[in-house]
Amino acid sequence: MIVRSSNFATFKECPAKAHFMYELGLARSGGKSIDLLFGSIVHDAIDMYNKTGDIQDAFALIDSIKWPPSTKKNPALAKVFVRLYVRKQNGKKKLFSERLFSFFLGQHEWRGRWDGLTLETYGLLIDELKTTNWRFFISKPNDQFISYYKAARERFGEQVHGILLYDFDVARADVKQEVIRFTDDEVKVWEEETLLEIDFYDRCQRNQVWPKRPASCLLYGINYPCPYIPLCQSPNTAEMLMRKMFVVSEEARTLSW
Ligand code: SF4
Repeated sequence: MIVRSSNFATFKECPAKAHFMYELGLARSGGKSIDLLFGSIVHDAIDMYNKTGDIQDAFALIDSIKWPPSTKKNPALAKVFVRLYVRKQNGKKKLFSERLFSFFLGQHEWRGRWDGLTLETYGLLIDELKTTNWRFFISKPNDQFISYYKAARERFGEQVHGILLYDFDVARADVKQEVIRFTDDEVKVWEEETLLEIDFYDRCQRNQVWPKRPASCLLYGINYPCPYIPLCQSPNTAEMLMRKMFVVSEEARTLSW
């Protein structure tokens, strides 16, 4: 099967959630949450800066968005983050920005996307931009990071040294940098464990049976409940609720990373 890194992370949280989110592409009506929107705008603005080298292009992109009302996550903060990124980057050479990759694990193809590649004096680092809440984030174990690293080692060899994380802190309007490295043993163990999980994902998809993991319903805290709780709580009315409360996002169904 083709495994996309975002789907896989969700599948591990809860197979039913991955089914709703990526197989059916169900998104709550009313548009993207400000958290998702803010992350993708900052991401796109930095990509714009990396491609043109002109911070004003990034700001123009931020200004072109119709922003929903939000006290914290607003255009001014997005511009602060772009400025901080430029300062932290400190003129280091970017070999590319936003690039898709894939590799094989057994017969399964894993697809993902690098945010960028930075040339340091000692070698290469894969860029990762993170705007999610730090409380829900760990760098190890982290399927996405280790898959980025594995893909980069396959593509660019031993000159790849790890992940360069830009951690954007909304509460402090600050950005921290951290380099995350992996050993060959860590990659090997990850491959073995991940292959087992993908085989399970493959069986769920072929049989169209998606187990529920209620322990994940409030994984991100009471303020960020799983959006599919109404569907899981009352399976008898699930179809009606799907039509009333959700829209189908083709982007979620066809995302290539
Ligand atoms: S509500 Fe809970 S069980 Fe249902 S899809 Fe979400 S995480 Fe899974």
